[in-house]
Amino acid sequence: MTEEIREKKKEKTEAELLKEKLLINTESGAKTLAKDEIDKADEFCKGYVEFLDNAKTERDAVEYTLKAAIAAGFTEYDKEKSYKPGDRVYVNNRGRALMLCIMGKEGTKNGIRLGIAHIDSPRLDLKPNPLYESNDLALFKTHYYGGIKKYQWPTVPLALHGVVALKDGTVVKVRIGDEESEPCFVVTDLLPHLAVDQMSKAMTKAFNGELLNVLIGSRPFRTDDESESVKLNIMNILYEKYGFTEADFVSAELTMVPAGKARDVGFDRSMIGAYGHDDKVCAYPAVMAAFDTAVPEKTVISVLTDREEIGSDGATGMKSTYMADFIADLAKADGMELRHVMARTSCLSADVNAAFDPTYASAYESANACFINNGAVITKYTGSGGKYSTSDATAEFVAKIRRILDDKKVLWQTGELGKVDGGGGGTIAKFVANLNADVVDLGVPVLCMHAPFEIVSKIDVYETYRALYEFYNA
Ligand code: MN
Ligand code: MN
Repeated sequence: MTEEIREKKKEKTEAELLKEKLLINTESGAKTLAKDEIDKADEFCKGYVEFLDNAKTERDAVEYTLKAAIAAGFTEYDKEKSYKPGDRVYVNNRGRALMLCIMGKEGTKNGIRLGIAHIDSPRLDLKPNPLYESNDLALFKTHYYGGIKKYQWPTVPLALHGVVALKDGTVVKVRIGDEESEPCFVVTDLLPHLAVDQMSKAMTKAFNGELLNVLIGSRPFRTDDESESVKLNIMNILYEKYGFTEADFVSAELTMVPAGKARDVGFDRSMIGAYGHDDKVCAYPAVMAAFDTAVPEKTVISVLTDREEIGSDGATGMKSTYMADFIADLAKADGMELRHVMARTSCLSADVNAAFDPTYASAYESANACFINNGAVITKYTGSGGKYSTSDATAEFVAKIRRILDDKKVLWQTGELGKVDGGGGGTIAKFVANLNADVVDLGVPVLCMHAPFEIVSKIDVYETYRALYEFYNA
């Protein structure tokens, strides 16, 4: 090729120019990132992995985040105190939900900036009377929490997390099974040799909730000839280790979660596999965005909420008044009323979406799916069956978010949750929208959502952090 032809080649054709101007660039997002951006994503995710390993349940997440928040200068909110721009406060709701707030220069008068993620994840909760013995094995009865595919949970090593509240007011913390030196627990499954009947059933029939019993011991209490000596032996171990008795299970929150730690996935280490990405993968960016925000224009609140996986009911879920009550206190201090603050408030409902999975391509509509490594995903509406049960953000608000993200070169994409009429799901967005605020969902695409081992891309985690940070500081 001569120099002249080469020069000519560089000139774009009319079609190329028009394409650039009019059509969406469909090139993979990760390709557009500079190497140092990818390095930053990898570095950011080291902290995320540590968070994941310490925040499997909502209580774990609050405890771990609170310690870090106090170290980052947050103090407990006191409505009698007056605060100045840049002051950092927290509100801990029953150890299950946490709000981190940074006072803005404008206070609440032009609305606030909210980033809300949930810190509960699907799992197997113990029943109020869980311990039993059957054929010389000791087991726990469970009641699953959130939407799970039940067949995924047998033969997976499990850890026990939670608290037991005693009548005297003592709260005993339990966390056992994650370290290799500790024992783990397991839901059993039938061997294939004897599973002819089981395997001929529909999945929903073959695995029902009452089969999710957790094996926790097999040795009898040695000096006892009574029946149920295996159960007695287990209760004795629990009593010696934690100081509670069988009757105390009724006032406990104990849950079986997948044991072990988060791992890099792929030869290129581009992804993270772990339990509970939904929605710690947005909670951690929301926490870090708050930590890194110094003196914002508008008051900023990162909310780590609870009960999302079971519909957001309850005192610590987003249907509760706890967040609005706190905002009302902030408003009052500024001589404002809650309703005027909410009407001007904007919120990123930071939750995950279903990443396109080529193995199950038919569940997605690829032009409106989100993809691993294409950045934070904006989901204008969730819901199902003709946009039921969703808030559907306004065009104007989505435009505002696009502008903020594009101005700061945050990598983002858009996606619906799967095919129309293929199923569906919801987030906390609608509960915040019902307070008369602008809300849109933004978060990380996840593969194998709600499975014991979920997958995310490191780039997407970092870009979600950047999205939240730029939103807080815009
Ligand atoms: Mn979620
Ligand atoms: Mn979920």
